[in-house]
Amino acid sequence: MEINKFYIDGKFVDPDGSEKIDIVNPATEEVVGHVISGSNKDVDLAVAAANKAFPKAMALTLDQRKKILKEILDGMEERREDFAQIISQEMGSPIKMARRAQYGSGTIHFKNTLSVIDRFDFQEVHGNITINKLPIGPVGMITPWNWPLNQMCTKVASAIAAGTTFVLKPSEITPGAAYILAEVIDKTSMPKGMFNLIYGLGVTVGKAMSSHSDLEMISFTGSTRAGIDIQKSAADNIKRVSLELGGKSPNIILKDVDLENAVTMGIKQCFLNTGQSCSSPTRMLLPEHMLNEATKYAVAAANDMSTGNPLDEEIYLGPISNKTQYEKVQDLIQKGIDEGATLACGGIGRPDGLEKGFFVRPTVFTNVDNKMTIAREEIFGPVICLIPYSNIDEAIEIANDSAYGLSSMISCSDEVKGQEIAKKIRTGQVILNRISRGDYPAPFGGFKMSGNGREHGLFGIDEYLEVQAVIT
Ligand code: NAD
Repeated sequence: MEINKFYIDGKFVDPDGSEKIDIVNPATEEVVGHVISGSNKDVDLAVAAANKAFPKAMALTLDQRKKILKEILDGMEERREDFAQIISQEMGSPIKMARRAQYGSGTIHFKNTLSVIDRFDFQEVHGNITINKLPIGPVGMITPWNWPLNQMCTKVASAIAAGTTFVLKPSEITPGAAYILAEVIDKTSMPKGMFNLIYGLGVTVGKAMSSHSDLEMISFTGSTRAGIDIQKSAADNIKRVSLELGGKSPNIILKDVDLENAVTMGIKQCFLNTGQSCSSPTRMLLPEHMLNEATKYAVAAANDMSTGNPLDEEIYLGPISNKTQYEKVQDLIQKGIDEGATLACGGIGRPDGLEKGFFVRPTVFTNVDNKMTIAREEIFGPVICLIPYSNIDEAIEIANDSAYGLSSMISCSDEVKGQEIAKKIRTGQVILNRISRGDYPAPFGGFKMSGNGREHGLFGIDEYLEVQAVIT
């Protein structure tokens, strides 16, 4: 895993930067490769290529854009196992999950975009006013490590559909999937320079992109901290900034459901990807008289999850993706204990039998007060808070008492009631009586400090377009 080329203007090229960043396998803590961190010159070259290619991208017909999306989909299918292996090595995703969910969450965006693109109105005529939706211009894309393929592909598929050019900088922690994607794209009919790939640290390369005067937009997925920084850097040239940030999503369980089923589903959804999903339902809200019974089911579900070597096909929980994140999770578990939450299972340290690797014990806190740090901060590990409520109004109040507003879950027997509650919840997505999967082109994005963008499907395409009114 020595990544020492960037993809600029339709070619794999030697970067100007030379600093090497270690790629660490989080299951073994061993350095398994390196990726070069780019210089400002690399950013300038990639942005220049995206600008040069813009007229060609803009002129692509709808059929040509659809053809490119299909070619990428076919190319990815041929590389499925390569994607799964590299994601598993770089960020510790259990291999079975990497093949299915990590890989599948990437390709689904090309499929979903193809399924909606014919319905997108790139032009509307209202009497003497014609509204044209035109590609915005070169875009910088900055993505995180937790669902590496998913977050790149949602941006890439929508930008191609919109007919714009872009420069992608994936997380320095998971550079591999983007490199394979570049190899796939290299074989398609996409115009040279429409897609450019560079690597590097957020504080250097990411910052140079956000402040670059020749990019019209930054589409960012990652932490709220970095999102704030990017918005400030982008302010000087009035760039559009689309932010997909963190979350602390509530899961309201009503008293009229099959409790065991609802709690088990909530734990599985929360701990999927070892709890490293922005939309994880990390605050489970329960009727207070059901808390003890719910805790029993939550502990059983957590203890049922095997943790270990991600290459083992039977494993559900892999390691946390990197050391910094591992230490943050440990600190927050300790904070939960210190602030008086009841530790129902798990706790600090590694699971028994695992001496190495960034493995965390699946942890259930119960009797949590929503004011506690563990109920307010994004933990990003297999840790859940069970919070009691006395009536549905209080449940809604607790659900909304968060700086974040990305996603939420509701389990209830009456779907009409569920729809009513959903309208009172300040989150961009509400998952009603099911688990969250990306198999539908529903808009995805947050309220409040979870961001301002909307990705996927028709809304995803819209992000990369400018509105022009022609008046006759
Ligand atoms: P991060 O913000 O540290 O890094 C994300 C990306 O931003 C990386 O490519 C990084 O190099 C870059 N970056 C970091 N600081 C930057 C800066 N100051 N300027 C420009 N670029 C910068 O986040 P992470 O630790 O990689 O990912 C985890 C976070 O992502 C979590 O908070 C999670 O909730 C969030 N996330 C959100 C969504 C969503 O769609 N809302 C999806 C997945 C993850």
